Amino acid sequence: MKLALHWKILIGLALGVGVGLALNRWSGDLRAAWGADGAGAMLIDFAVNLNRVLGEMFKRSLQFIAAPIILFALILAIGSLGDLKSLGRIGGKTVGIFACTATLSVIVGLVLVNTIRPGSDRFIGAEARERLATGLDAAAAARLATTAKSISPWDLVRDAVPTNPFDALARGDMLQIVVLALLLGIALTLLPAKTSGPVLDVVRGLSEAFTAIVRGIMHLAPVGVFCLITPTVATLGLGVLASLGAYCVTVLLGLAIIQLVIYPAVVKIFTRMPLWGTGGFFPGIAQVQMVAFSSSSSAATLPVTIANVRDRLGVPADITGFVCAMGAKINMDGTALMQAIATVFLAQFYGNELGLAQQASIVLTAVVAAIGTPGIPSGGMVMLVIVLQTYGVNPAGIAMILAVDRVLDMCRTIVNVTGDAAVAVAVAGSEKRLRAVGTVERTPV
Ligand code: ASP
Repeated sequence: MKLALHWKILIGLALGVGVGLALNRWSGDLRAAWGADGAGAMLIDFAVNLNRVLGEMFKRSLQFIAAPIILFALILAIGSLGDLKSLGRIGGKTVGIFACTATLSVIVGLVLVNTIRPGSDRFIGAEARERLATGLDAAAAARLATTAKSISPWDLVRDAVPTNPFDALARGDMLQIVVLALLLGIALTLLPAKTSGPVLDVVRGLSEAFTAIVRGIMHLAPVGVFCLITPTVATLGLGVLASLGAYCVTVLLGLAIIQLVIYPAVVKIFTRMPLWGTGGFFPGIAQVQMVAFSSSSSAATLPVTIANVRDRLGVPADITGFVCAMGAKINMDGTALMQAIATVFLAQFYGNELGLAQQASIVLTAVVAAIGTPGIPSGGMVMLVIVLQTYGVNPAGIAMILAVDRVLDMCRTIVNVTGDAAVAVAVAGSEKRLRAVGTVERTPV
């Protein structure tokens, strides 16, 4: 029987934790028993180094595809708007509600992570933090020094404008790449189809190629996760688990608030649709949520989302297609929440806590990062690397987050697709075009 990828990753995670704990407990005894200079000690060193290199390679391969995938995904999203004038009103409503829910989601995340403080002494002892800090290699410390720069919201807005698009791409500056993609996408939309069509075709092909690379990388994730978590647990022991437990609870609590408070509010403000029962919002999207949970990809779930939003929620086909396609690219509230929580969590963990101004600017950064996140498994992790660099938080910490991320990814993908459906319903409601369920035509999309 072929095991699904998420099970394999869970197994990799569990094995990594187990081996890490064993190393934490017994590696000193082993070295002593086998002799500090003997073949046994050399074998341990070899295994530890191999493990570290494989983990680093997995992480670097995610970093490698970040910039191109943001660029191509966003150009395609804007390019798919078509005629800007006729889509202006619906587009304005859609983007407006997306922006509101994303901002609220990040604020929920920031409130939770500052209240629970999963990376603080309450969950990780000073000794465990000290051990991790001394365990960092010189290269990581140097990288930390070069990425640590003060960020004010004003600087962030000013620096979003690239002086040289190629430089922005070469440095992997996420905000500047987003601005570049927006400008290019709008320009392509305004050009005649004869001119823009071939360009968009190339962008589409490249976008798909990079997505295929991500899929390939994800097949290595069971090993990658194992290699990343083992040294972390081996260095920290059980303390890291307690800390990760608190981090997971914080993220899951935030996702539950978005799902059970923010989205129902969006549906209720713009429509009279019931939330539960026959013709209700949640039963209408149950299938979509299950596909999202098992695939961890809002992009892969898109066809299911479109069919269910139109047929089971009564949203007209044009609004469904526009909002859901846009949403699959730019509406990722679960991802935005996770990125905000993860950034503050790691800052707490490393003891370089972010000030109020920096946390306020995370609202913008996380919203924008989520917009640029591709709807694929671990897409949010790719973007998180850059968000961490933006705030001078040690990107090595992503090893800890990545280890537990697969399960969180499954859960936040549910939130991401639910958001698309809620906004589609809201836009249709505000246009007075929501049809009663049962009167819906059921032709294939
Ligand atoms: N897997 C998520 C999605 O497809 C993206 C993420 O990693 O946050 O919606």
